[in-house]
Amino acid sequence: MSLNKRRIIGLTGGIGSGKSTVADYLRAKGISVIDADKMAKSLTDKDTPIMEKIKQSFGNVFFEDGSLDRKKLAEIIFSDMDKKIILEDLITKKVVDDIIIKIDDLRKENKEGITIIDAPLLFEFGLNEIMDENWLITANMELRINRVMARDSVIPEAVISRIKAQMTDFEKAEKADIIIDNDGSLEELHKKIDVLLERLKYESN
Ligand code: ATP
Repeated sequence: MSLNKRRIIGLTGGIGSGKSTVADYLRAKGISVIDADKMAKSLTDKDTPIMEKIKQSFGNVFFEDGSLDRKKLAEIIFSDMDKKIILEDLITKKVVDDIIIKIDDLRKENKEGITIIDAPLLFEFGLNEIMDENWLITANMELRINRVMARDSVIPEAVISRIKAQMTDFEKAEKADIIIDNDGSLEELHKKIDVLLERLKYESN
């Protein structure tokens, strides 16, 4: 791909929409993907300063070996808005700051290519404002619920309550530049991504 300058693209979507599937496909095509969830996870590796703060605010949300019980923590924040805000202050804001720094560095490098920022909370934290373009993955509610149930072996209620806790697709769609409908097969999804990549290539020439 011959791009004249780096295009930085925000990739987002609600739970089970297919963000990771798209990110994996882009990675397989050799495109660089920065994964906000992975960054958040590495902040909560054992013995990081944030872990001590989590202990103070959330109590015993750890396994016996001292590692974070992410499922237990997720259950707390999905049922308690105040705790959700505390966790966002501790982790999400740090991830957002780190992403801003990474983007700044990438722009300074002034190299060609594409970088994807895979961030579930792209719009919620205003990261969309600093992207060249924002892609929203959507799929109908029934499909999302069924796909997450199959992926995580959870009951529908667990998926529904998480979907309800998120910004709606309607609100996200208003902020997105490109909406990628993932109601079809994986093959159809891949084709849509290929078309978008072709357009980026074309625009940069
Ligand atoms: P989360 O926000 O929960 O991390 P996500 O948006 O990253 O979700 P994925 O994990 O990519 O969603 O997709 C959810 C599940 O649906 C996965 O098991 C994935 O393999 C499957 N899936 C995604 N798109 C399709 C598709 N078009 N056809 C069939 N299965 C799909």
